[in-house]
Amino acid sequence: MSSGSCACHYITYTSSTPPTCLVNCHCTTCRKQAGAAYQTWAFFATDDIRWDVNPTERQSTNAATRSFCPKCGSTLRTLDEGKTQIPLPSHHIFLSEKASWFELPEDGAKRWDKFGEYDKL
Ligand SMILES: [Zn+2]
Ligand SMILES: [Zn+2]
Repeated sequence: MSSGSCACHYITYTSSTPPTCLVNCHCTTCRKQAGAAYQTWAFFATDDIRWDVNPTERQSTNAATRSFCPKCGSTLRTLDEGKTQIPLPSHHIFLSEKASWFELPEDGAKRWDKFGEYDKL
């Protein structure tokens, strides 16, 4: 089982399974949301996650809804690495929007300019 919370612990979650993969997304929206060079997303089957309080959602694009804590603003759907054995990121995506000053690590993760091959994750 995996568990985690936002920074203020208002919202906690548990998952009955480990994430299926981790993805480092370099798209403009993720970079702005994270305030960093990229944002790491952990992928779970929706039915495997239980939230004690539903996060606040906002539609960021036609295809994506993002969620966050309404009290502290933390982006959710990441894991507490200290409690869970999780795999290394498998992909860097939206590299066409990557911060020009950030150099990708030689981590063996696949590199995609866009999101088009998402179904192959
Ligand atoms: Zn919070
Ligand atoms: Zn993104």
